[in-house]
Amino acid sequence: MTPSAPDASPECPVWCAGHEDDQEPTPPRWHRSDGIIVSVVERHRTRFGGVPAPLVAKDFVVALEQDAQAIYLYIGALEDGHRFFAVTLDSAQRLHAAISAALEIAT
Ligand SMILES: [Zn+2]
Repeated sequence: MTPSAPDASPECPVWCAGHEDDQEPTPPRWHRSDGIIVSVVERHRTRFGGVPAPLVAKDFVVALEQDAQAIYLYIGALEDGHRFFAVTLDSAQRLHAAISAALEIAT
């Protein structure tokens, strides 16, 4: 969100693209960036009826969020707001390093 956006606030980080509707009017206490949509193929279970579980294609969103406590990396299923995790940036960096290490082993 740019400073000229209608619901921008001096408290908004430069990457803020919006807030929860029920917290308006300002000052906002929660900020969220524009999301990046990522297509993924996931497995919901280890096995399904004795055979490997089917793989499912889904869209996930990756975004930044901020509340009064911290800035978070949010990753969640686009069509299911209950399936997500939001971790602090330090945690996201540790996960990033671990994911990179795992991918390096796999390839
Ligand atoms: Zn904001």
